[in-house]
Amino acid sequence: MVEHLDTVCYRFKSVKDSWTLPVYTEQGGYAVWKEIVKTAPAPEDIIEKVKASGLRGRGGAGFPTGLKWSFVDRTAAGPKYLVCNSDEGEPGTFKDREILLTNPHQLIEGMLIAAYAMGMNVCYHFLRGEFALPFQRCEAALAEARAAGLVGEGILGSKLNIEMHNILGAGSYIVGEETAMLEALEGKRAYPRYKPPFPATQGLYGQPTTVNNTETLASVPMILEKGPEWFAQLGTAKSGGTKMFSVSGHVCQPGVFEVPLGTSFQTLLELSGGLASGRSCLAVIPGGTSMRVVPGDQMLSAEMSYEGMEAVGSAIGSGGVIVMDDRTDLAEALAVMMQFYQHESCGQCTPCREGSGWVSTLADRLAQGLGRSGDVDRLYTVAQQIEGRTICAFGEAISWPVSSFIKHFRPQLEAGIAPANQAVEDGQ
Ligand code: SF4
Repeated sequence: MVEHLDTVCYRFKSVKDSWTLPVYTEQGGYAVWKEIVKTAPAPEDIIEKVKASGLRGRGGAGFPTGLKWSFVDRTAAGPKYLVCNSDEGEPGTFKDREILLTNPHQLIEGMLIAAYAMGMNVCYHFLRGEFALPFQRCEAALAEARAAGLVGEGILGSKLNIEMHNILGAGSYIVGEETAMLEALEGKRAYPRYKPPFPATQGLYGQPTTVNNTETLASVPMILEKGPEWFAQLGTAKSGGTKMFSVSGHVCQPGVFEVPLGTSFQTLLELSGGLASGRSCLAVIPGGTSMRVVPGDQMLSAEMSYEGMEAVGSAIGSGGVIVMDDRTDLAEALAVMMQFYQHESCGQCTPCREGSGWVSTLADRLAQGLGRSGDVDRLYTVAQQIEGRTICAFGEAISWPVSSFIKHFRPQLEAGIAPANQAVEDGQ
């Protein structure tokens, strides 16, 4: 059994009232930000350090954070915006919530540093609509930081101005897509935008904007405090640092665990209490339900890193690990996921709007044992017609689970074809 680390996002987890300013500062919090305000280092140097740390976006796409920051033209006229994406809606994912509840000041410090590095004066922190308590904690933390002169106009007596706002969403899944979030912040319906233009050049209100995930930004103060090399060496050569995983499903102690990237899945499974006695691991979705499912035996020899998950045909995604043991009805699991995606499609693109309905119908009837001959292939074909033909990656979020379930677990899905239907449609 390995203890989970007490480093990037968990450093105050066991400390009483860890979400308050006195506790955060007592533990060394805001020291990095105060030093930046005092010494005014070159913003480019901060970006280089973040690049050297190997930090990649922790929200799902895994794009290198320092590189993303370097895309923003600091000299562009008019305002520039930082948006923190805490719309943690991916099924199976609940690790950002932990940061918001236990350590909101580290996130605020990370946002301030990021804004400074990219020459931004306004930060919007967007939280999912269901995050009532996290929102309260973030509001209280922001009020404390503002009262202490760490946020707002003339920060700590300097000429630096960085304003910050917490915004609570209205309960949609797709608002977690970064351009949909920008639409919502502008007061419009959360429809994903066509890209290009990308937010770095034309984002919120048409101005340069960077959208980063909560865990990504919360990692920044520690990277600057302990050095990019320290962070990089925590992980693998290609995946720097630690990563928070929310582990759920058929494990004895579901929860959030922060481990170095490259940690074996076996270890993560142990941390979450392992499987129930006598059960075996049938399948794992390693990065939220939008990612491809992996057979249990392959996961048991895999490592939790960007490249480790690629090696087993999936991705680390949002870090939402869903474990399914040998009792799982996989046809039902797929059907439940597809009902979710049908419900959450924003409806802008025909392949997604119509296809999600067809996929859900087919998966549902297989789960109920009412499938018709050819339904599994039909399911596959419909999903393939969605992938790559939509405005946003929601199309892939439908297609990838379907194609991977069929690839690895076709017999379990075909078991849902009713014998009577098979006979009729096969012309027997
Ligand atoms: Fe909306 Fe789906 Fe198109 Fe994304 S892919 S924009 S969710 S209809």
